[in-house]
Amino acid sequence: MTSFSLDELFNLISNHNKWRLRYTVNLIASENVMSRTAWLAYISDFEHRYAEGKPGKRYYEGTKYIDILEPWANELMAKLVHAKHADVRPTSGTISNAGIFRILGDVGDKALIAPVQAGAHVSHTKYGTLGALGIEQVEMPYDSESMNVDVDKAIKMIEEVKPKFIVMGGSVYLFPHPVRELADAAKSVGSRIVYDAAHVLGLIVGGAWRNPLDHGADIITASTHKTFPGPQGGFYGVREDEELFKAIYKTIFPYFLSNHHLHHIPALLVTAMEMESFGEAYANQVVRNARRLAEALAEAGFKVLGEHLGYTRSHQVVIDVRKQGGGHKAAKMLQDANIIVNKNLLPYDPPTAIKDPSGLRIGVQEMTRFGMKEDEMEVIAGFFKEVLIDKKDPKEVASRVSEFRAGFTSIKYSFDDRKVEFHDTVLDLIK
Ligand SMILES: *Cc1c(COP(=O)(O)O)cnc(C)c1O
Repeated sequence: MTSFSLDELFNLISNHNKWRLRYTVNLIASENVMSRTAWLAYISDFEHRYAEGKPGKRYYEGTKYIDILEPWANELMAKLVHAKHADVRPTSGTISNAGIFRILGDVGDKALIAPVQAGAHVSHTKYGTLGALGIEQVEMPYDSESMNVDVDKAIKMIEEVKPKFIVMGGSVYLFPHPVRELADAAKSVGSRIVYDAAHVLGLIVGGAWRNPLDHGADIITASTHKTFPGPQGGFYGVREDEELFKAIYKTIFPYFLSNHHLHHIPALLVTAMEMESFGEAYANQVVRNARRLAEALAEAGFKVLGEHLGYTRSHQVVIDVRKQGGGHKAAKMLQDANIIVNKNLLPYDPPTAIKDPSGLRIGVQEMTRFGMKEDEMEVIAGFFKEVLIDKKDPKEVASRVSEFRAGFTSIKYSFDDRKVEFHDTVLDLIK
């Protein structure tokens, strides 16, 4: 085993921080950054503590402050998504899904899920959480014209299969899934609708994406670190049914976690408060940026998916890079130029193409947080062209990408420009 010195260890951390926070244009659609204010709230002694049980009724002593913060976070998150009840304990979106699926279905039951081509996440499938719980996945039919669930066929399928529940929302999707359109059919056969908003939670809270709970979904589940720019974690909200909420609540702990990583809760609260103040401006800018980037990439000569539908209504842009050498090679070349994206299967790729799929998935939410607008999207599209179409040396492009990035280092749509007194934070203790 290689042995590292302590200095080397801290060097590696520092190099990573500088690389991703200063030099690179980050376009991974599932990532984001917390504000400095939220980050400060993240670093605390809560990192070391347990608080099993409910606020006020814990199995441990020493929890009087988290007992104030946790209900506050639940309440604010519920308000932001128009739910009656919310729970911020899940330490990831997958844990949140597990608790929900466990309550809605038993071994051998059926759940309808969005087609994989329309973005279903692995946790919705037999290869992930649904499979681990022994619940059978039935994929709804895909309509390649709308790049979405085929509504008419899905309604027939709901009436035939009578699934225990239906999961919508996904990881690679440009247009909202048809919640309203399927809600009546779901209700008529007693199926609950779960909307997995992991990717689009920030857009929903900012009013730039249909709120599934206002359109007939029963439950919203999400990660809190994708378009919602909070600490890594998960949460879920139930529109109305208190009994359903209580059942899921009792399943998250003790079935799927014991420690709920208390330190993410204050940081989540800061982010939720920031989203209350600035979420609308942020979410609208994200969607405008995605649209502009898509147009600029198309103008530069790329094949951008969804052209006939206006390219995108989310934070994502998806491009087909088969002509530029395939997803694997294109993503590596962009990384050499300090642009970070991920390769992705496109709706027409076979699942076996996973190692070298045809596409790239691009998300603009993080760079929007750093203050980039439509003009910067055009600059980014220009870099893509230089690397992938003009075949310039990525190393040469890299330094210009970093110079460009250097103009965008503070986080907008946040409380970071306020003077906040951080009394007795752990920073004082570790100084
Ligand atoms: C990212 C994602 C998840 C998983 O979230 P984690 O917080 O990484 O566990 C679940 N569902 C969808 C649709 C996702 O995109």
